[in-house]
Amino acid sequence: MTDPTRPARTLGILGGGQLGWMLGTAARRLGIECVFLDPGESCPSDMVGRRIRTAYDDESGLDRLASESDVVTYEFENVPAHAAARLLERVPVRPGPRSLETSQDRLVEKSFIESLGVPVPRFAPIDTPDDLPAAMKQVGSESIFKTRRGGYDGKGQVRLHAGEDPVARLAGLQGAPVIAEALVPFDLEASMLVVRGTDGSTLTWSAIQNEHAGGILRRSDAPGPGISAAAETAMRRHAATIANALEHVGVLAVEFFILGNEVLVNEIAPRVHNSGHLTIEHARTSQFENHVRAVVGLPLESTEPRFPMATMLNAIGDRPGDSELENAGVGLIDELGDGGSPLGSGQARWHDYRKTPRAGRKVGHLTIVGDSIDEQRVAELAAMVPGAAEAPSLASGE
Ligand code: AMP
Repeated sequence: MTDPTRPARTLGILGGGQLGWMLGTAARRLGIECVFLDPGESCPSDMVGRRIRTAYDDESGLDRLASESDVVTYEFENVPAHAAARLLERVPVRPGPRSLETSQDRLVEKSFIESLGVPVPRFAPIDTPDDLPAAMKQVGSESIFKTRRGGYDGKGQVRLHAGEDPVARLAGLQGAPVIAEALVPFDLEASMLVVRGTDGSTLTWSAIQNEHAGGILRRSDAPGPGISAAAETAMRRHAATIANALEHVGVLAVEFFILGNEVLVNEIAPRVHNSGHLTIEHARTSQFENHVRAVVGLPLESTEPRFPMATMLNAIGDRPGDSELENAGVGLIDELGDGGSPLGSGQARWHDYRKTPRAGRKVGHLTIVGDSIDEQRVAELAAMVPGAAEAPSLASGE
């Protein structure tokens, strides 16, 4: 039986992808062992911990994970509800079921966030085509239809432009329950990561500005150069409000649309987040370490920045060559996530997920820290990182 007054020593993690690997790396440094559950043939997390190789809803696998762990967390929010329930009968699961249920359904998520007085885009549910007229009245003709469940990286979404037939566009989503959202003419997209401990304390990191192409995150900058002080303050406040209302334990990622000083929440993820990879080098304590600290019941550590600026570039579909990295003076971390000496200002580091390259797949990322963003240096690095140069501000002629 787990002693609730002592921090856990073995952390179970659902999912062995790059987020699981980075969580496992942070846990090892804290002397916490990890056991992963993931059906994959080989996983990035294999570099840092043992693995139960079953489907996420396999009862014997879940029972083994529960019996081998003091607490269980996850790297993705689409944990099947019955898997979470089965684990919860045997072991604490953090973040808890409220965070999971809320983030798994866009209608529940948006309604909940709005009920807290936190601004969201106008939205309306569409269960059948009969709901379309009322929904279109609510959100306007320039809108987006999103499936309530299961969408990510822009999947399960269709855009409706003025003059298009909403019935035909809706049919593209194959009858799934949908929400319609007003199209937001945002200046930029951003994220705020908040961590909440078992004692209810919260900490936030710098506001992060994100650039996507083809629905995939390409580049993140912290603090976001286009985010005003007023917008950043509002982002921090809204993220903490949501984390507190969910009684969340661990990191919560809140994605925003920014229009001047106005901020609207797009969605939340009850987990560490791709945009927060840069916290490994940029912050005194990374999102991964503070997530582990929170879920095992250790005190949170400072999220203050070590450098004025950090930029992260995602490698999509392929990785840069070793000699290219070396020639560009980019350091590497080893398989266990140890990167030798801490970065100095102006230095960059490559994180390799050891995944088989495939179109559209995130296979690694590069972070550069410094006193300011050196766009020329970022452009040089982006030219070397496959997929990164597709970010709108980096691509020529876009
Ligand atoms: P999501 O899966 O909800 O994060 O949406 C994927 C991407 O679609 C976002 O990162 C935005 O670039 C875009 N998007 C989603 N919802 C809206 C909206 N209401 N208005 C404008 N763009 C949106």
